[in-house]
Amino acid sequence: MESRAVASPEGSCYLPGSLVWEAMGAALDEARRARARGEVPVGAVLLWGGRILCRAHNLREIRGDPLAHAECLVLGEAARRLGRWRLDEATVVVTLEPCPMCAGALLQARVPLLVYGAADPKAGAAGTLYDLTDDPRLNHRLRVVRGVRAAEAGQLLREFFAGRR
Ligand SMILES: [Zn+2]
Repeated sequence: MESRAVASPEGSCYLPGSLVWEAMGAALDEARRARARGEVPVGAVLLWGGRILCRAHNLREIRGDPLAHAECLVLGEAARRLGRWRLDEATVVVTLEPCPMCAGALLQARVPLLVYGAADPKAGAAGTLYDLTDDPRLNHRLRVVRGVRAAEAGQLLREFFAGRR
C-alpha cells in the first residue's frame, strides 16, 4: 500500500501511496484528538492539489450535533475555504468507513476518491452494510480504497469502547 499509486476512476487525481499513508497518519492523529476529548475516535483529512487542505475529528458530543462526523466536517470546511460545493478534485481520507450520512455527503460533494481505514460492520455505507459509493441508481460514484492502516484505526476504536464498558 505504501508504494502503490492510487487513482480515481476518471484518472483525475493520482496520489502516490506515500501521500495516502501520510494523510491517514494525519487522520489517525485527529482520531486521537477526538479520543482525548471523550469523542468516538474518528478522524478525517481532505486532500486537494496533492496536499492536506483541512482536517477534523468527530465532534458529536462536544457540539451536540448529529451532523458533526469527521467526514462532514472536512467537507464543510473545504467548501467554505474553496468557496464551492463541488469538491470534484478532493480525496477524503478517514479512519473509519463512512456511515450513510457521510457517504451521502461525499456523493453530494462529488468527491471522486475515498480512502478509509477500518471497515464498520455496524454502520458502514461504503461497501460493508450498504454501498452508496457504487450504486448505478445514483448519479455519482466514488472510487474507494479500503483498509489503509486499518489495524491502527480499529485499535483506537476497540480501546475506546473497551474503556467505556
Ligand atoms: Zn458519518
